[in-house]
Amino acid sequence: MQVRFWGSRGSLPASITNKMIEAKILKAVQASRSFELETDEAIKTFIQNELPFAVRGGYGGNTSCVELSNAGGYILCDAGTGLRDFGNQYMKAKIAGQSKMSNIFHLFISHLHWDHIQGFPFFTPAFITGNQVHIYGLHADMEKAFINQQNAPSFPVPLQAMGADISFHVLDPGSSYHVAGMNVTGMKQNHPGDSYGYCFQQDGKKVVYSTDSEHKENAWDDHYEFIEFFKNADLLIFDAQYSFLDAVDTKENWGHSSNLLAVELAVRAGVQRLCLFHHEHTFDDEALDQVLSDTCKYHKLHDSSCPLSIYLAYDGLKIDL
Ligand SMILES: [Zn+2]
Ligand SMILES: [Zn+2]
Repeated sequence: MQVRFWGSRGSLPASITNKMIEAKILKAVQASRSFELETDEAIKTFIQNELPFAVRGGYGGNTSCVELSNAGGYILCDAGTGLRDFGNQYMKAKIAGQSKMSNIFHLFISHLHWDHIQGFPFFTPAFITGNQVHIYGLHADMEKAFINQQNAPSFPVPLQAMGADISFHVLDPGSSYHVAGMNVTGMKQNHPGDSYGYCFQQDGKKVVYSTDSEHKENAWDDHYEFIEFFKNADLLIFDAQYSFLDAVDTKENWGHSSNLLAVELAVRAGVQRLCLFHHEHTFDDEALDQVLSDTCKYHKLHDSSCPLSIYLAYDGLKIDL
């Protein structure tokens, strides 16, 4: 199974400014001073080996969308602006004539806040007759929210005018479903208006997508229900939008969690890979590099004997399981 991140930001898309790009170029040129960079190959090696990720690249600005590759069709978690890029890449591959591409898309929606549905009006495959788009969620008013998002005066093309066969499936939390070769279970999470996490299992692999979820004091209980939900996951995608201080103080009850709590819960649940997700939209790439470095340090202090791999999601990140 491969997991690919198309959108990793929380709350709002975050674009990069010309000043940010200039600052990256300045740092890259400064860092290059003591290197002999006569050939393109030497420059490429320097970029890859000597520059931090925040300088040589960046985390991207799309809102939530994560793809789980699967032979039974496309499985996507959330329809934030990252869904547009997934759709565009799919169309490019389709036009290039790649055979055996499925035209069935399964979208699992955590909740109906804008940053989790706003990419759908720009999802090109949904405009094509003959394609099937299945939208799953646990909110009873999910279809209404998708329709309203595209109604006048907010958008020029109503949902009903999109050419694909679009259907909505309201699931029950706690029940298991078999979709496109995967077993899927939803779990209710603490977030304004509720959100749902999803556990996907196939061929002995387990991926948990748990965004927009605030964990409270009961997270330290021995039998905290999320420990079971995350148990032995090969990959846990976790809402770590806030710093620990923000999560317990100024932004308490805003519906998100911290990077430190992510480590605590992942270690207790025996997770193999932890991917921090739903990044604060006001953080630039350096601030996000710092979040990753702080999280790794905290893990070492907390329990270095636990072999947890820690990632910070970026648009384009692929994780093979
Ligand atoms: Zn969100
Ligand atoms: Zn939300």
